[in-house]
Amino acid sequence: MKKQIDFLIVGAGFYGCVLAERIANILKKNVLIIDKRDHIGGNCYSEIDQKTKIEYHKYGTHIFHTSNIKVWNYINNFTKFNNYRHQVLSHYRNNIYQMPINLETINSFFKKNFNPHDAEIFIRKISKKFKKKEFLNFEEKAKFQIGSKLYNAFIKEYTMKQWGKNPKDLPSNIFNRLPLRFNYNEDYFKNCKWQGIPLNGYTDIFNQLIDNKRINFETNIEFKNNFKYKPKYLTIYTGPIDKLFNYRFGILDWRSLTFKKSIIKKNDVQGTSVINYPELKYKFTRIHEPKHLHPERNYDTNYSLILKEYSNDNYLEPYYPINNKSNRSTYKRYLNEVSKIKDFIIGGRLADYAYYDMDMTILAALNKFNYILKKYN
Ligand code: UDP
Repeated sequence: MKKQIDFLIVGAGFYGCVLAERIANILKKNVLIIDKRDHIGGNCYSEIDQKTKIEYHKYGTHIFHTSNIKVWNYINNFTKFNNYRHQVLSHYRNNIYQMPINLETINSFFKKNFNPHDAEIFIRKISKKFKKKEFLNFEEKAKFQIGSKLYNAFIKEYTMKQWGKNPKDLPSNIFNRLPLRFNYNEDYFKNCKWQGIPLNGYTDIFNQLIDNKRINFETNIEFKNNFKYKPKYLTIYTGPIDKLFNYRFGILDWRSLTFKKSIIKKNDVQGTSVINYPELKYKFTRIHEPKHLHPERNYDTNYSLILKEYSNDNYLEPYYPINNKSNRSTYKRYLNEVSKIKDFIIGGRLADYAYYDMDMTILAALNKFNYILKKYN
């Protein structure tokens, strides 16, 4: 006899799998997770390349980083992390610079030998003419933070490639993701208390999360609103919100990525896990070399694997929401429709149309579980 489905979860990324785990273990109810892909983990999915045995993140390098103790304690029930610290470099005019922009970047780019104080005075001087009461877009904000020369070299064309838009048409808060430092610290996530790569890869975390007899997982299934499985209590939808309503109010702008993978007969191709290519003359935005994410593993020294990352507008494979004014207002119309569906909630990066990091997604799921627990216990 088929098991009764208490909760239906659409999408097997972090939001869906964390909720499934909580519902099965704490609420002790049955969960069915469905996903349109043939694997678990959403965009965090990692797999082992068969030839080189190198584990890589199929949808782009993911570094787990958080300062939230609740998230950190929770995720450590399902994995341990290595001590990887993320560092990013930028390849500009055949030179390598540190990212985010720090004292090393400033000194080598301007051929100076500033100390932290002098560098700050210098950057303030070259950027003060861009001061505004309110920054209306990405470019205004970035130029005020770093001045036009650094902006033109490292940010402008990279952002055009990554987002497929003029930075003047992008929200200013995307730039908040990029710190500016007047010291030599090159730890990309230095402000986070914890960071690392899961010792057994990301996919293993998801397998641990759903390892419960109350959870069933089915792949290659598209969710339709008149879906054949009717849960007893609630459907939790984590896919794109515009797709849920068949794009009735129009397609929300999404940025998507593709990756070209190659195996190289070298132990080490670029010496680090990610190098950004900000110039338009390179069609890709960055090159990933996943071998460097697991310094604790004894990988084959004859080969390495690289992935070139390209951005595009394929809304059928959404990655990044383009959260400008017009998309936000379309999103609100969809949200209003969601509220009319009985026993139905949404969450996660795609359904919330939000640029969440992994830890924020996990936290959102844990918080949502508190609500579910109160209501269905
Ligand atoms: N960015 C840039 N140059 C860089 C790195 C980032 O212009 O070398 C901009 C770009 O617009 C990007 C944003 O900063 O979308 C946020 O960067 P982050 O590294 O957080 O992007 P993610 O790794 O999430 O794709």
